[in-house]
Amino acid sequence: MEHRRYLTIQQREALQRLLRERADVLRLEIGEDRLADLNVEPEAAALARDVVEFREVEAALSRLHEPDFGLCADCGSDIPYARLQAAPSASRCLSCQARAEHRPARAAP
Ligand SMILES: [Zn+2]
Repeated sequence: MEHRRYLTIQQREALQRLLRERADVLRLEIGEDRLADLNVEPEAAALARDVVEFREVEAALSRLHEPDFGLCADCGSDIPYARLQAAPSASRCLSCQARAEHRPARAAP
């Protein structure tokens, strides 16, 4: 099967700018010292969220020019460009993201 290239170079570069700006903001919020020490256990929940987001942003930047960037990691469908502009590090479409975040506990019947 041919590799599908979904996003144009221009779209990727626009997202790259957004991701880099976000990475800079997060880097400032987290602090270079903490990022340098990967073993640090973030105490505050807000800091933990920032660290998680920073890693997602970094991961997105490293994937940005792969052909399948912008395709949902779960179902493979196109992630709408508007969603990517709002959340450039998104790796799932909205419905898969909702499923991932609200994964129902598999309670016994
Ligand atoms: Zn999906």
